[in-house]
Amino acid sequence: MWFTSGFAHGVHPPESKELTAQLPIRRMAYPKEIVLPLRQHAGKPATLCVKVGDRVERGDKVGEADGYISVPIHSSAAGKVVDVDWWPHPDGTMAMAVRILVDPYAPQIPRPRMVPHWEGLSVDEVVQAVQDAGVVGLGGAGFPTHVKLAPPKDFPIHTLIINGAECEPYLTSDHRTMAEYPKRVHFGIRVMMQTLGVSKAVIGVERNKPDAIEALTRTIPTDLDITILPLTVKYPQGAEKMLIHAVTGHEVASGKLPVSAGVVVQNVGSAAAIAEVFETGLPLIERIVTVTGHGLTRPANLIVPVGTKLRDLLDQCGGLTADAAQVIAGGPMMGLAQANLDAPITKGTTGIVVLARQETRTERVYPCIHCGRCLDACPVFLNPSLLGDLARVGRYDEMTDAHLSDCMLCGSCSYVCPSNIPLSQLFQVSKAGLRRAQASAP
Ligand code: SF4
Ligand code: SF4
Repeated sequence: MWFTSGFAHGVHPPESKELTAQLPIRRMAYPKEIVLPLRQHAGKPATLCVKVGDRVERGDKVGEADGYISVPIHSSAAGKVVDVDWWPHPDGTMAMAVRILVDPYAPQIPRPRMVPHWEGLSVDEVVQAVQDAGVVGLGGAGFPTHVKLAPPKDFPIHTLIINGAECEPYLTSDHRTMAEYPKRVHFGIRVMMQTLGVSKAVIGVERNKPDAIEALTRTIPTDLDITILPLTVKYPQGAEKMLIHAVTGHEVASGKLPVSAGVVVQNVGSAAAIAEVFETGLPLIERIVTVTGHGLTRPANLIVPVGTKLRDLLDQCGGLTADAAQVIAGGPMMGLAQANLDAPITKGTTGIVVLARQETRTERVYPCIHCGRCLDACPVFLNPSLLGDLARVGRYDEMTDAHLSDCMLCGSCSYVCPSNIPLSQLFQVSKAGLRRAQASAP
């Protein structure tokens, strides 16, 4: 019996998914050069294991995992390492990255199977294989998947929840994955259920994806207890704690992890990625990216080699229109505006949205009028108005007392604010300020 009345608060931004929702996934051509940041995941960045001048094949490691909460980085194309240096990262910072000149004559055939077949492997061996394949959450946060497959023993897990909500406007890569590769999603779920030792799985999918719901339902394996749960359409349904609440009715308390509710949440793209690495024997070197927006000539859902520069990806979609105003990595609610189109697609890039001039907000910011709309929108019951006041004067300690750590930067408060106050951006800066203050504390 599953709970389906959703979570409290949240917002309903225009979906804008019609540009790509019915476009089949296709593969993009290899770019001339790929750039692989060693930091593409939560946890410690990978450590470099190649040098300038080295020849690499498709799937070869260029960076080793540095500890347990880390994953390796693999080359998405055969070619030659031409540089290792700081490079623009789509998160707005600079990151150490490996530049590879793609060999235009290489058949791009990987070396023989790099990831073992999963049948017959022990739980520990599956977890190790998933780490070695560099699999991370493909929903954006990039948390290493193998860590979630081995939860602490004192938290018994009863259910695997698969996140197929894809509530961010414009994005359709998860939608197309479920509609076109439902058996792959189910295979990934099979591997994860067996590894976690759970007998139940639920795939939460928003009702605006009826073809995905139909495809997943039609292909459910008869020997597994998998439920496809249609969800109301609301943002940010795809946030982990919101999805757990919508699916189970259980509220994960402030400061607690989902495992405290006996569940593990994995993104639907990660399920498909796990299936693919065990099916093909290749590590995670490419991903499905929605490239869309009214500022783009030919929107598409593409299989993109990790490391493809934004400008090369946009070129393959016909380039920008005359009124293109802003390129965003991710969706418009939580994504980051890009200042440099040389930044590459990373494992966590769900989509690239190009907004046209009329879609961007450059209106003046007015003082807070204490209307309370942001309180009604916040899905974790914070007081964004108060947090905004504190953020502007850098009173981070008081923000901590007001539960800044529970803010997931979903942008719902900024979206509804009639004064155009960039609340979630203020909170992002405050979180970074707090981290810096904590790091430099004696
Ligand atoms: S929505 Fe904006 S104006 Fe209204 S209370 Fe919140 S911060 Fe103030
Ligand atoms: S950005 Fe933070 S404060 Fe604003 S609505 Fe989302 S969770 Fe609440």
